[in-house]
Amino acid sequence: MSRPSVLFPLFADIETLEGIGPKAAKLLPALGIERPRDFLFTLPYAVIDRRLRASIRDVALPATVTVEVEVGAHVPARRKGGPVRVFVRDAGTEFQLVFFHLKGDYLAKQLPTGQRRIVSGKVEIFDGLAQMVHPDHILRPEEARDLAEFEPVYPLTAGVTQKQMARAAAGALARAPALAEWIDPALLAREGWPGWQAALEAAHQPKAAADCAPEAPARQRLAYDEMFAHQLTLSLARTAFRRGKGRASAGDGRLQKRVREALPYKPTAAQERAIAEIAADMGADKRMSRLLQGDVGSGKTLVAFMALLNAVEAGGQGVMMAPTEILARQHFDGLKPLADSAGVALDILSGRDRGTERAAKLKALASGDLQVLVGTHAVFQKDVDFHDLRLAIIDEQHRFGVEQRKELGAKGIAADVLVMTATPIPRSLALAQYGDMDVSILDEKPPGRTPVKTALISSGRYEEVVAHLRQAVAEGRQAYWVCPLVEESELVDLIAAEDRFKTLRATLGEGLVGLVHGQMAPADKDAAMADFVAGRTKVLVATTVIEVGVNVPNASIMVIERAETFGLAQLHQLRGRVGRGAAESTCLMMYQPPLSEAAERRLQILRESEDGFRIAEEDLAMRGAGDLVGTAQSGLPRFRIADLDRQAWLMAVAQSDARALLATDPGLTGPRGQAARVLLWLMGKDEAIRLIAVG
Ligand code: ADP
Ligand code: MG
Repeated sequence: MSRPSVLFPLFADIETLEGIGPKAAKLLPALGIERPRDFLFTLPYAVIDRRLRASIRDVALPATVTVEVEVGAHVPARRKGGPVRVFVRDAGTEFQLVFFHLKGDYLAKQLPTGQRRIVSGKVEIFDGLAQMVHPDHILRPEEARDLAEFEPVYPLTAGVTQKQMARAAAGALARAPALAEWIDPALLAREGWPGWQAALEAAHQPKAAADCAPEAPARQRLAYDEMFAHQLTLSLARTAFRRGKGRASAGDGRLQKRVREALPYKPTAAQERAIAEIAADMGADKRMSRLLQGDVGSGKTLVAFMALLNAVEAGGQGVMMAPTEILARQHFDGLKPLADSAGVALDILSGRDRGTERAAKLKALASGDLQVLVGTHAVFQKDVDFHDLRLAIIDEQHRFGVEQRKELGAKGIAADVLVMTATPIPRSLALAQYGDMDVSILDEKPPGRTPVKTALISSGRYEEVVAHLRQAVAEGRQAYWVCPLVEESELVDLIAAEDRFKTLRATLGEGLVGLVHGQMAPADKDAAMADFVAGRTKVLVATTVIEVGVNVPNASIMVIERAETFGLAQLHQLRGRVGRGAAESTCLMMYQPPLSEAAERRLQILRESEDGFRIAEEDLAMRGAGDLVGTAQSGLPRFRIADLDRQAWLMAVAQSDARALLATDPGLTGPRGQAARVLLWLMGKDEAIRLIAVG
């Protein structure tokens, strides 16, 4: 399979376009332009109306105006480096053209006194006089037709001009072939979208500001093309992943029943729903690829354990992998009582297991005596063999990207996969990022939680915060103290954390304050965590390593220093560490004044809401998709045209449409399927082509 020849001209060398030479070819990659195709998808963001008017008198200034004028007197610069002025008169009034730093006889040639010219440019009032500084265009009346009535404004990079961009874009447009339609005809009709070629033309030749808005039909269509290609790729990946597991893992519920009887609470409706969705998926003979998304404290652990029991009931094994030692240990501690109540053999394997102990665990795993394994990445090391692995659960998705997901497959682990994430992300992003997975959402929290009291406190009130802490510690409560992210450097974070640790230890007392950070030796880290969990230390100074998952119910105070430097989602995660026990919890967000408007709004949202999904939506709205999720590691693609904030609804349409198309035509061989293949090539989704089902 190779690229269809109709697309060749669009993938030719960039220098084959008129007006693009070796110099521009070097500069254009800064705009993401490497081939003629890229010009098609680099759209103007504004338009200049150059329609000829009778007079500047008819226009509200300042404005860009095009008028025919009679050239009057030239007034030389009064001092060196000063402006040269040329009086001109249009049909209604007189004004001035102003030029700085002119060389030679440019003016005399361009604007001979007594002749008529068409001038186009921005007219402003300066000292009560209307003037056009450096007109964008000066033409003879007979050349009027050379001036496009509407001039698109493209993004630029240093050394490349608007003229060049427009010319090259026009050249690329001329190469855009007529292609068969890949969009569902019903959708196209319902939205009133133009065909592909027509959409490109309209998007590159806007006639009003509205034509450049994400709501313009042509823009929407092109954005949809991009999303559709992306969702097709994800759907193909999903189908390839799900293909051929061959064995259904249907539990008989006997172990789950024991756990339910031992639970001190009733699962929430959301937990029940997720448990059932997972069971159905595991019970089918396709491979499961599912995301379990739930805010902090929504009870993902129970859902995960029920899934593991499914695997065990079906006669197999399950594994749960956490990103860090601390979290793996905590999962183990949390799961152990549940496993005991079900009579299931559970153990933990980490990078620190060595020698005979490790060998014994591996042996039990290989024989099937060990039924559920919890651990870090160590659980997937080469020498770890399972007797019959049916389910792999991966906790905390945002440190475990698409690449790692692929790796699992590459290791020949053909088990069902469940990924858990505690980072609520907006639906459009979730679809873009995890569109290859099915999703179960825990959108409900167990009842009886007291909301966390959240306060903003200026750093000037540090002493008050410490006094509050001292009081709380005296009452037997525990607190986290999160140190600022000073820079993107762990070393700097570390120094800040160590300093804070020393000062707090000095004020609160020896032995009461613990410290944990990413640079510590694993054993020290565990010891520090264990001290805090056991209540030996009362205050835990930490960098953001405690951000995910850590659960200490007795901790009811969270102090965050320089809260304004953290992202909304991160603050929400941190705050989620408290409010897990019976006591009323407090989150003190300290900030260094003055607070920027944006930072103030962010912190305000946190004060108003504890709903992770709402917070995520607000974060997206305020920061835009690019910032919200670190694109590099998150697997979130960069879209050229699609705007995940303002065209979010399109992503869901694209996903269901992509899945529907593949359901009816998995090999993409029908007429629409063929067209969709061309779209994939056009969008550079070459890797997706390889995933198309053969035969
Ligand atoms: P997370 O989704 O953050 O991983 P956990 O699974 O750690 O949440 O659950 C948080 C706490 O809520 C735990 O102490 C757990 O025992 C408790 N919990 C879970 N489900 C329920 C429920 N349905 N009712 C009451 N408490 C629950
Ligand atoms: Mg958890």
